[in-house]
Amino acid sequence: MAAQAWPGVALIPGMLCPGCGAALSVYSDSWRCNACGLTSDTLHKIAEELRGQRGAAASPESDQGDFALLKGKQYVNFDIARRYLGIGRRAVEKAVAKGSLTAIGCGQGRRITVDSLRLYLPPSKNAN
Ligand SMILES: [Zn+2]
Repeated sequence: MAAQAWPGVALIPGMLCPGCGAALSVYSDSWRCNACGLTSDTLHKIAEELRGQRGAAASPESDQGDFALLKGKQYVNFDIARRYLGIGRRAVEKAVAKGSLTAIGCGQGRRITVDSLRLYLPPSKNAN
């Protein structure tokens, strides 16, 4: 099968994945990261989810602000970050895309730095 560019597909130099920094496949009205699978459509949904969650209060049993989740760690996975922040995974991805949180690695190996989590949401529980 010949490697032929699809109509409307162009790899624009300098256009990098907001999630992992890999070069993006850019389409006429969207883009996709081949490294981590993030798409402009996914990002759009994240934004909507984030808007929806901003008004919702954290549930009483949430781990939000619980520093015990981060204690002694430099990096945590997305699940821990999500629990600490009390937001959905996609909202975490969105915060990373915006640069509000710092992530390292790509795909399944991605981690959020504890420093960026503490800046984003200062611990309210177990901070000592
Ligand atoms: Zn990516």
